[in-house]
Amino acid sequence: MTLREIVTVPAPVLRRKAHKVTEFDKDLNVLIDDMIETMREAPGVGLAAPQIGVPQRLIVIEYAEDEENEDAEPRLYVVVNPEIVQTSEETVLGVEGCLSVPGLVGEVDRFTEVVVRGQNRRGQPIKIKAQGWLARIFQHEIDHLEGVIFTDRATRVWKPKEGDPVPRD
Ligand code: ZN
Repeated sequence: MTLREIVTVPAPVLRRKAHKVTEFDKDLNVLIDDMIETMREAPGVGLAAPQIGVPQRLIVIEYAEDEENEDAEPRLYVVVNPEIVQTSEETVLGVEGCLSVPGLVGEVDRFTEVVVRGQNRRGQPIKIKAQGWLARIFQHEIDHLEGVIFTDRATRVWKPKEGDPVPRD
């Protein structure tokens, strides 16, 4: 596995619509493993392929779903060609950051629940129901595949003070 460089704004690749993945081959699996390693090293809770300069529809997320339980094991999600197929009516504001937008956070309104369909690394169909912060991470990462950055959606954006917790995806 190789650590990849995380590209930051204003890199044009972050503003492009990413291409659908059609080949589930060795190269794709190498890319996925590199993304997982790069996300963990950053560290971040999610990474979309355009963030390492690859304009393909692919995201990785690692997050412990149970926010109440600090000992909950983080779960790894690899989703190729992810699509949000269902959303809650309810939305909630939350503070987001992004590995590709260093030094800024913003308050973004997101659906509290989403259903995501896509494929796993072998090309088999998968479906994930995400709630709360995990749902927010999925929406943030899938936005990257459309060239959308959280600051586009944020109701306000600011520089966090030193010591403030900064969510990074
Ligand atoms: Zn991001």
